Amino acid sequence: MTQDLRTQLVEANHILFDQGVLDAFGHVSVRSDERPDRFLLARNMAPVLVTAEDVQEYDLDGRTSDRAPSYLERFIHAEIYRARPDVQAVVHSHSASVIPFGLSSTPMRPLFHMAGFLADGIARFEIRDVAGDATDLLVRDADLGAELAASLGEAPFALMRGHGSVAVAPSLPLAVYRAVYAEENAALQLRSMPLGDTVQLTVGEGRAAADTNAGQVGRAWDMWRRLAAARQQGLRAG
Ligand SMILES: [Zn+2]
Repeated sequence: MTQDLRTQLVEANHILFDQGVLDAFGHVSVRSDERPDRFLLARNMAPVLVTAEDVQEYDLDGRTSDRAPSYLERFIHAEIYRARPDVQAVVHSHSASVIPFGLSSTPMRPLFHMAGFLADGIARFEIRDVAGDATDLLVRDADLGAELAASLGEAPFALMRGHGSVAVAPSLPLAVYRAVYAEENAALQLRSMPLGDTVQLTVGEGRAAADTNAGQVGRAWDMWRRLAAARQQGLRAG
């Protein structure tokens, strides 16, 4: 496992907290660059506090040799990596603006160019359909993870009713970007709905915008990691 990937995963944890996508909960993972049947994920802890020593390696059954406690929902990551060889990184969050669209019959739509990737599909996962009406909503085993992965299909993003969402991408910076801008898109949709009918991106517009933005992700990443690093210094000083 390259140290670079581990470092980048730590940065991703800090960025997603700093950008308001993760709080004390939610997690981000990246597929191993040495073994495609392994992925890296922090141990069970708040993302903003993650260091390189907290990163664990998992197999696609959600097992690790590290004895520190694991996230209960590591099966989200394991089963998406199993089902989607194209996916290199996964963000699972409970970010607030997307939650209403998991509940409502009003579909979440791709509204602006920064979220053009959403034109490729916004899936929905209803845990009641597969596990009844008395779960704690968590994807806490491999079967539920596989059902979530099946609901995600080939989409880049899935709403999880009453819970949160997942964003997936062919790179870690792009998965972070998608999680940030899915939340932003949802916030914009909530803000524009009172105005009446809205115009959404076409699939063609969304894909063209996504292609353009994929080449610009480094610009956002550089800014986000510096902002997050400044916050890390503040945390250490505190
Ligand atoms: Zn969750």
